[in-house]
Amino acid sequence: MIFKLLIFAIIGVMIYKFFGGKLPKVGKTPHEKKLDDDTLVECKTCNTYVTVKESIIVSGEYYCSKECTP
Ligand SMILES: [Zn+2]
Repeated sequence: MIFKLLIFAIIGVMIYKFFGGKLPKVGKTPHEKKLDDDTLVECKTCNTYVTVKESIIVSGEYYCSKECTP
């Protein structure tokens, strides 16, 4: 219905005004959506926990060192 669309439009404008004319940036904070460098992951071979930064990723699996990679 047109009436429904009108209400949605008004609510939209109100939200727009509420944020000071700037569109809110949802989910744009750092360390979101991507794995943090310091996140611990488990080595698939020896079950040692290493940070993502130090790990070696082979076909989607994490390994602590070259010795553990297949
Ligand atoms: Zn390992």
